[in-house]
Amino acid sequence: MRFADIAGYDALKKALAGMADSGRVAHAMLLYENDGCGALALALAYAQYLACEHPHDGDSCGHCPSCNRIAKLIHPDLHFVFPTNTGSKSGKTKAENIVSDVYMEDFRALAVENPYFLESQLMEAIGLETKSWGVNVAEAKELLRILSLTSIEGGWKFVVFYLPEMLGLQAANKLLKLVEEPPEKTLFLFITHQPQKVLQTIFSRCQSLRIPPLPVEDVAAALSARGYGDGTSSSALASLRPEAAEQARMCGGSLGTALYALRNGDDMQQFEQWFTQLMDALLSGSLVDAWAVGDQIAALSSREKQKAFCIFVSDMLRKIFLMQQKMEDLSYATASRGEICKRLAGKISPKFASRMQPFLDKTVYYIDRNVSQKILFTDLIDRMSVNINRV
Ligand SMILES: [Zn+2]
Repeated sequence: MRFADIAGYDALKKALAGMADSGRVAHAMLLYENDGCGALALALAYAQYLACEHPHDGDSCGHCPSCNRIAKLIHPDLHFVFPTNTGSKSGKTKAENIVSDVYMEDFRALAVENPYFLESQLMEAIGLETKSWGVNVAEAKELLRILSLTSIEGGWKFVVFYLPEMLGLQAANKLLKLVEEPPEKTLFLFITHQPQKVLQTIFSRCQSLRIPPLPVEDVAAALSARGYGDGTSSSALASLRPEAAEQARMCGGSLGTALYALRNGDDMQQFEQWFTQLMDALLSGSLVDAWAVGDQIAALSSREKQKAFCIFVSDMLRKIFLMQQKMEDLSYATASRGEICKRLAGKISPKFASRMQPFLDKTVYYIDRNVSQKILFTDLIDRMSVNINRV
């Protein structure tokens, strides 16, 4: 991946290329971002720039053997560490021997196709949909072994460490010395979504770099480049198909989130249907029918889809609120969602959206922490039923 292939972040790319050019490469960097914003893409482009045989104009050449191998994630000096566990794809490997390498093919397939993948997409790709995961001692030992060997290509050795917040204390202790004083020409690139959870001993040894959410126009340009636009307008956003324009605005600056939603368009239709059923059941006072919708969402196999539904509800409530305030133009709804929102705008309390937002956020938070989804959605629906008409 070249810097030029990455949407937005011009100043960050320049800063990274500048560090490489001046020879002031920090041996451990911590890139922190919201899930799906592009930290992995930037880390890979940075590694590719450092390893490129013919870098020019602040970017890698994109076609030397080194660039080719990094692009395919098969460079022998590019190592990946990510959280794991035993799962449907780990075969007969014992739990204590599970390391990232066991899942490297799945990781490679996912990341080469889309370096903006979400955490939960990695969990699905390696067969851990409903399990917890972590980085264990075996992983730390393996990393110590790999980095004690000389670089195969004679240049930099890279360790892309995805989600160091999942590093167990025991494994972290094994790695501290390595991160503090890595062998020569070794570069750690940590990518985290929860910097506050990264062990202080690791955090303090890294140069940290914030990867901010992308502006809407940059998300739009990236979606347009991926075939979601028709190029009929000079503004990338204006030339996107309506569902893509909606995602560009809704994704909170995370291209990964927008891509996930667009590739799961069927889910969105299902979400519209569930949302309508849920609101109608609540408005007619039938809590039993509302819970039945909640049960279907709780039974979804993927946590990402459950979270996506909560975000969908939150966005629909925001649209309804804007319609209630006669600011329809700002709601950016597709035709079918606009219809649903318009119908509901006259029926629910104008305070409903703001009252529900903290509960929707909390539900998303607890889904990630493995709290029983059935309890979470039952509780959420109870709160919705109390608030839907409350003035
Ligand atoms: Zn090159």
